[in-house]
Amino acid sequence: MTTATDYEAAALKAGRELEEASAQEILRWAADTFGRRFCVTSSMEDAVVAHLASTVLPGVDVVFLDTGYHFPETIGTRDAVAATMPVNVITLTPKLTVAEQDAAYGPQLHDRDPDLCCSLRKVEPLNRGLGGYDAWATGLRRDESPSRANTPVVAWDAKRRKVKLAPIARWTQADVDAYVQANGVLLNPLLWEGYTSVGCSPLSCTAKPGEGEAGRAGRWAGSGKTECGIHL
Ligand code: SF4
Repeated sequence: MTTATDYEAAALKAGRELEEASAQEILRWAADTFGRRFCVTSSMEDAVVAHLASTVLPGVDVVFLDTGYHFPETIGTRDAVAATMPVNVITLTPKLTVAEQDAAYGPQLHDRDPDLCCSLRKVEPLNRGLGGYDAWATGLRRDESPSRANTPVVAWDAKRRKVKLAPIARWTQADVDAYVQANGVLLNPLLWEGYTSVGCSPLSCTAKPGEGEAGRAGRWAGSGKTECGIHL
């Protein structure tokens, strides 16, 4: 029987050995090692990692967190991914609806305590949803922000006791654009409207970046918050 300790050692070894590997090779290692106990998470900003994973593991589970605060375009992207790609989209929801959260914590918690809001609407549902998996892949890239600059391609997620992959960690935005173009990958339409990172719809959570800004500059802009907590 494979234990978490075995997986931790395997993750650290793979992180070293696959540092220079292609995204497909990294995902192939995950598919060979974990089979169906491996999933991809997607914010539905684009379907790049879902597409990559589907080429090595058709029918792969793609986990989406429906916070209840998404733009309609994001929900539409999720539905398009589910309808057109060889993947199994799984939607996770928070324990509380937005109305229940408003009643319990007061309205617009995202403006007053975004860390708590993200904890309730993203971190807890993801932790619950990942329970049935041994490994998960994200779309984190090193060039997205200083907080992501040291993202390993394969790591041990000690909090969740799972292997965590970032198969496109070494990619640049130009690499993403080239892959999208070459493979006709679905994109969230908001990316054509000036958004460079798409999260929840409240303005305090996702805004268009200012002049000269890019990447994740529009996420929780001006608050000092840079991550929702999933990747901390
Ligand atoms: S991104 Fe904003 S609305 Fe979404 S869970 Fe976090 S604080 Fe709440």
